[in-house]
Amino acid sequence: MPPAPPKQTIFTTMSALATELGAINLGQGFPDAEHAPELLAAAQRALAHKSNQYPPMRGLPELRAAICDYYGRRQGLALDPAQVVVTSGATEALAASILAVVQRGDEVIVLQPCYDAYIPLIERAGGMAVAVNLAPPHWTIPFDALAAAITPRTRLIIANTPNNPTGTLLTRADFERLGELCEAHDLTLLCDEVWEGMIFNGSAHASPLHVDSLKGRAIKVGSAGKLFSLTGWKVGWAVAAAPLADAIAGQHQFLTFTTATPLQWAVAEGLTLPDEWHDAHAAIYAPRRAQLIAGLEAAGYVVLPSAGTWFVTIDLAASGLPADDELVAERLIREAGVASIPVSAFYRDNALRGYLRLCFAKQEGVIEEALGRLAGFR
Ligand code: PMP
Ligand code: GLN
Repeated sequence: MPPAPPKQTIFTTMSALATELGAINLGQGFPDAEHAPELLAAAQRALAHKSNQYPPMRGLPELRAAICDYYGRRQGLALDPAQVVVTSGATEALAASILAVVQRGDEVIVLQPCYDAYIPLIERAGGMAVAVNLAPPHWTIPFDALAAAITPRTRLIIANTPNNPTGTLLTRADFERLGELCEAHDLTLLCDEVWEGMIFNGSAHASPLHVDSLKGRAIKVGSAGKLFSLTGWKVGWAVAAAPLADAIAGQHQFLTFTTATPLQWAVAEGLTLPDEWHDAHAAIYAPRRAQLIAGLEAAGYVVLPSAGTWFVTIDLAASGLPADDELVAERLIREAGVASIPVSAFYRDNALRGYLRLCFAKQEGVIEEALGRLAGFR
């Protein structure tokens, strides 16, 4: 008998239900319009005029250089293309990184709520996930609990900033403290930064690669899906000190080996677009975020503080609803025609059930219609 497969991801479940019921989909995070025509044109040019055969295993040199250039300009990081491995989406970067670091019996600390791929990937590598919970409403790292969770078998900590689902940020001070812990216990830090381009409160994005103690032991994961609103392209990358990048490439070669060549050309072009383009692209989402938050609050929902991603979360009990996110999500989609994501999907054993995530990467008319339905639901 083959082993039971991991249970179906909540994103598939809710999107399928939204399609079946004709609901407005504020669940799975994807935009409902194209916002990067320059990349669509670049991909068409690449299909017509460049190679459609295998690119180098670690990614096109032009893309790896463009990733370094982008992070140099936008985040002040001094990187070398030898530190970059291009992958099929951030998901594969996470998988290759975990497989590169985690051996059977190792423990990996995840900060919950955490993206739903982390724990299944840790388990696939033979590791054991050890959960440390962030506390609402600010979801800051409880450093005492984190330090207490470290054992001689701990090998890796996984962090995510801006955080999906909460939209909160880690700071450089957080990474300094994480660096102290990682140095003291010889740990690697895997930092999922796919939402780095979507910060709406004026804060600068902080990465572990900004911190000296972590430069040799942190892996930074990025995704073109979020930087260009092209979630279906599945072009991502891992960036780390060269020996770690080599280990990640060693796994990547037998996961997918490489990623669609024309899309790599287009993403390389996209990353070298001027800073104003990138700023304007992120700014598309700011009014939609403000519209969703204001509309929810006007309808009596309590929205948690957040700064980034395409998501906001609501506190169910404070909003006068049952603190059972799966129940409320089910009723919301069936009775009001709005799909959401229960935040418990980001916890092992669905442990925390009082919050619901909503996506604002939608046309303003769609958000308005959803807000009308949400107002009627309460
Ligand atoms: N990590 C996080 C936190 C995400 O939110 C997502 C998808 N939105 C991913 C990883 C996966 O990114 P990709 O689609 O590039 O694989
Ligand atoms: N990351 C997206 C989200 O959080 C979904 C990705 C997926 O569908 N696997 O909504």
